[in-house]
Amino acid sequence: MTPSLADDIAEVLISEAAIEARVRELAAEISRDYAENSLHLVGVLRGATIFLADLVRRLTIPVTFDFIAISSYGADTRSTGIVRLVKDLDESVESRHVLIVEDVVDTGLTLNYLLEVLRQRKAASVEVCALLDKPARRRVSAAAKYVGFTVPDAFVVGYGLDYAQRYRNLPYIGALRPEVYGG
Ligand code: 5GP
Repeated sequence: MTPSLADDIAEVLISEAAIEARVRELAAEISRDYAENSLHLVGVLRGATIFLADLVRRLTIPVTFDFIAISSYGADTRSTGIVRLVKDLDESVESRHVLIVEDVVDTGLTLNYLLEVLRQRKAASVEVCALLDKPARRRVSAAAKYVGFTVPDAFVVGYGLDYAQRYRNLPYIGALRPEVYGG
């Protein structure tokens, strides 16, 4: 038999149905909260693309979106702590109500950096919507107003999240078999 991506998954942590239900809830909450203000989403490449694509289709308010790419150099499953802007936004955020859409808040360093950048650029407001929160590994305080799921300290893939650029297309979130990343 042809090997499948799913063979590398030790455990499905969040099913496709659970993600879909939670995305609907988040979208309803965000639509209510931004009913009076136009909303500009900033998706963090590449991990948040699938989440953002699903989320925007459930929002009932007018919305625009843009993307930014950040890298924490080097390590494959651990952040090094050095954050760098890899691809900037195409549009100005000045005077706009911005919601950062992030895949995982882990150490918090990426989010901290992004919040700083967007505030310096004079956004009218900046909030965060994170698909996953891993509070166990936080090194700097970074709180997301909207969180899809709180997860334990495990390296997860799927639904946009990668290991070595693979597994992003899995429709669920799962833990990789340790032998896949030499763990
Ligand atoms: P932080 O700066 O909060 O440590 O890192 C956030 C970034 O690290 C996320 O946007 C994501 O790209 C990556 N990351 C953190 N935990 C995981 C994980 O469990 N799986 C994957 N695939 N990426 C992760």
